[in-house]
Amino acid sequence: MELKICHLFPDVLNLYGDRGNVVCMQKRLGWRGIDVSVTGISIGQKLKASDYDLFFIGGGQDFEQEVLLEDLKGEKTREIKAAVNDGKTFLAICGGYQMLGSYYKTWDGQQCDFIGALDLYTVGHKDRMIGNYMFTCDELGGQTVVGFENHSGKTYLGSGLRPIGKVLSGYGNNGEDGMEGARFNNVFCTYSHGCLLPKNPVLADHILKTALAHKYGTAELAPLDDTIETNAHRYMENRLRK
Ligand code: GLN
Repeated sequence: MELKICHLFPDVLNLYGDRGNVVCMQKRLGWRGIDVSVTGISIGQKLKASDYDLFFIGGGQDFEQEVLLEDLKGEKTREIKAAVNDGKTFLAICGGYQMLGSYYKTWDGQQCDFIGALDLYTVGHKDRMIGNYMFTCDELGGQTVVGFENHSGKTYLGSGLRPIGKVLSGYGNNGEDGMEGARFNNVFCTYSHGCLLPKNPVLADHILKTALAHKYGTAELAPLDDTIETNAHRYMENRLRK
């Protein structure tokens, strides 16, 4: 078995160590003897989405998102939309999450028309939503996910999308409706930056299984010793429950 990971804009969208999620997926596959390759595709590089099984898009500030607008026009947008509709697996974080939606209006009034692969939009506010936070993951039986958020954008989901889960502590999508993230086909979007997957190993494996099942029909992952990862998860969970 093999998973081919495409890391979109690795040099532009990489806030708070978002790339660590790619390293985590690589390691968790490698430890199980599953082959994995990671290809970075950035500005000016051709994207042939059918070459890959799993796409990762990290976060970026408003400036970086504006820089990408020109490159996203046309072919890259078509390829990303086709991959979403074909059921390819995506993990998109914060700015990358916003970019899969239809538009982002920054807090100072810049209109960024994005990919439009998902029925969602984002409006920036002057007050940022910052801090460690926690939410449930519906499809993991309501298990908790711990993360870190830092965004000015408030994201609103259209009727065809469901959230990843409910916010238990912090802001999530917009600080208003109690929802966090977005799910559509095999796309996972979240505001949670940095070491999301290392400290949420159950979610990491769920995403990997999604990609493997789409490619091979079934996916079983051998258990790993996640003592350290689970301790990190529990520590943050306890801190955020107080
Ligand atoms: N620029 C976006 C915002 O502030 C995304 C920020 C991020 O990716 N951390 O909402």
